[in-house]
Amino acid sequence: MKSLTSPKVVKDILKRHGFEFSKGLGQNFLIDGNILDKIVNGADICGDDFILEVGPGIGTLTRALSNRAAKVVAVEIDDRLFPILDETLEGYENVHVIHGDILDIDIHGIVEHYFDGHPFKVVANLPYYITSPIIMSFLEGDLPYTDMVVMIQREVADRIVAYPGTKDYGALTVAVQYYTEPNIIVKVPASVFMPPPKVDSAMVRLTRRDHLPLDEREAKLFFQVVKAAFSKRRKTLLNALSSYSFKEDMGDKDDIRKILEGCEIDPSRRGETLSVDEFVSLARGCMKMICK
Ligand code: SAM
Repeated sequence: MKSLTSPKVVKDILKRHGFEFSKGLGQNFLIDGNILDKIVNGADICGDDFILEVGPGIGTLTRALSNRAAKVVAVEIDDRLFPILDETLEGYENVHVIHGDILDIDIHGIVEHYFDGHPFKVVANLPYYITSPIIMSFLEGDLPYTDMVVMIQREVADRIVAYPGTKDYGALTVAVQYYTEPNIIVKVPASVFMPPPKVDSAMVRLTRRDHLPLDEREAKLFFQVVKAAFSKRRKTLLNALSSYSFKEDMGDKDDIRKILEGCEIDPSRRGETLSVDEFVSLARGCMKMICK
């Protein structure tokens, strides 16, 4: 079978199957061999690796992954792509394509059934309309992923790797950096996709942190504190936290001031200036107050 990164080959296949792109499903297929290599190399795949791909499209990335990995499971929502995938993935014996919505499907079940519960990597050119929910569902899903190597909108990639105090730094930054160490591997122009999306893209690698600093209860509080801090970006941390309705009783404004001072965080700072480590110590401080 000819290379799926050739625009002519892709057009021919789509035409033969009468396939029309669905904008609503974020269908922008990769048509650049160099970027394909960069994704596969960036994912550092070896022969023992189990890979979960979100949205195989016509199977371009799937085939490249299949050549390097032990097994690839690809979840695709659009059933119109299945006759095409039957053709393009013929002979790729270590690939399993599953019909479903990645946000609904039982990923724990997939990991048990196809990977025997072993750690796996997520590698995908994500559908951009649900980039953040997909990333968060893996991070929060208690799943044994080791890395996520994903193509996403450049703007979201910039937010993920942002530093405190910058305009891009927000709740998504803190959440992703809490769970993983993120890196931008390569920035990608819209022209490497068919059809080209309206935005530029970037491929990021999110490497899971083996040890998280907070236990489950503290982590729940951490995410409430982060939400509170960023929901009122222009307020001081003291005002943002004291006007937020926490699920637990955090005391009055004076108590919150004491928590902040106990963590050596100036109450007049804005939430967006706090590092992830400072949010962690703030969550611990809040927990102490609740448990008093
Ligand atoms: N991997 C292919 C490539 O690189 O050319 C296609 C990538 S395209 C950006 C995104 C793919 O995700 C499409 O095939 C689309 O149909 C699929 N998709 C969209 N929403 C999905 C969902 N909720 N669950 C699973 N797949 C989805």
